[in-house]
Amino acid sequence: MPTTRLRPSRDGGPAVPFRRELRAFLAAHHPGRPPKAAGDRLRFERDWAAVLADAGWAAPGWPKEWGGMDLPAGLQLVYHQEMAQARAPAHPSPNSFIVGPALLRYGTPEQKERFLRPIVRADELWCQGFSEPEAGSDLPALRTRAVRDGDGYVVTGQKVWTSRATEADWMFTLVRTGPPGSGADGITYLLVDMASPGLTVRPLRDMTGGAFFAEVFLDAVRVPVERRVGDENGGWAVARTSLGHERSTSRVALAVRYRRVVDELFRLARTLGRADEPVVRQELARLEADVRLLALTFARVGAAVTRGEEPGPASSVSRLHLARFEQRLHELAVSLCGPAGMLDPTAADAPEGGRWTWGFLKTRASTIGAGTAEIQRTTIAEQVLGLPREPPA
Ligand SMILES: Cc1cc2nc3c(=O)[nH]c(=O)nc-3n(C[C@H](O)[C@H](O)[C@H](O)COP(=O)(O)OP(=O)(O)OC[C@H]3O[C@@H](n4cnc5c(N)ncnc54)[C@H](O)[C@@H]3O)c2cc1C
Repeated sequence: MPTTRLRPSRDGGPAVPFRRELRAFLAAHHPGRPPKAAGDRLRFERDWAAVLADAGWAAPGWPKEWGGMDLPAGLQLVYHQEMAQARAPAHPSPNSFIVGPALLRYGTPEQKERFLRPIVRADELWCQGFSEPEAGSDLPALRTRAVRDGDGYVVTGQKVWTSRATEADWMFTLVRTGPPGSGADGITYLLVDMASPGLTVRPLRDMTGGAFFAEVFLDAVRVPVERRVGDENGGWAVARTSLGHERSTSRVALAVRYRRVVDELFRLARTLGRADEPVVRQELARLEADVRLLALTFARVGAAVTRGEEPGPASSVSRLHLARFEQRLHELAVSLCGPAGMLDPTAADAPEGGRWTWGFLKTRASTIGAGTAEIQRTTIAEQVLGLPREPPA
């Protein structure tokens, strides 16, 4: 049984018995450290998701009817905090918690029955097929075409940067059903079986050496009409469904995790004998401020959802801060390692198993995925600060 770092709770109200009960569950069932090999790790995470679901400790923000816990936002925050402090494995399919809220809001009873419980138990994994070679930031320009044919759609086109497509069973995707140039008004939201004839996944290798995303080619793929979510040409509203309180409150887990990583970076600086260098001390102090700000910006989003509000464009502030923080953290770690920081992360003598160099390479993408830093800055400027609108390109 792993050790969990538990601190005495200072909360009042229902959080105290809830925290106690969750800690007792984790003390009894925590599966320990995950295996290193990717395939074994995925199996381990799926098994844990099923254990949580079967015991009623999964999807804290979802209705009980669909395998969730129906917790108020305040207890969702406690849940994610405790899970992170105990280093409990994460759900293996983050995309499932993007499609899930869309199904909860727009799905037919049959779709909810068919998909929601397998999402919670990780019996089925999902990928998100939105971006295309000519449509990323400007998503309404997407061109993958779906033509109605009897009781289904015939889909032809290409998606790109589709994370975890190689392991996914299903893809939620946006396709054009309106005429070319119909923008956001001609888009439909479909659920595509990744085993469909005509669908090909081609993994893309990134600079870490891993293949975490892929190109997905659709060549006359047949999708039954009952796999459409929402109305034909009404997919944009479905895609913009609030990401759900669960995703906002789960951010608190990241703040706990990064607090730990910053402490580990301090330890690295001391181990390498560099913690007394004035410039290093200055950078470490800045990171310390950054990690505290990270917790505060997530807490601000968490407080909004606890009050029953949508986090709105302010979540762009936490998202942008997170992206730059992750990059600065790893830039400092690699520079502390000196020439050894340049070693391939898989090299036998890469410092600390290559984790910092791997993180440095991986976080280059933080300011691109899920909305680029430039797009986040425009949202903050226009919708948070009320500055004049960006002129159209
Ligand atoms: C690690 C990672 C995982 C991803 N996973 C997925 C996934 O699972 N599913 C999926 O669908 N997509 C995924 N993506 C794709 C991601 O959503 C897009 O990369 C992102 O939306 C940017 O689109 P793009 O790459 O086409 O760049 P573009 O939109 O072509 O942008 C190119 C550059 O121009 C800038 N730019 C564009 N428009 C403006 C503007 N209006 N104002 C100012 N600057 C602008 C951008 O900031 C960027 O610097 C992933 C990307 C990454 C990096």
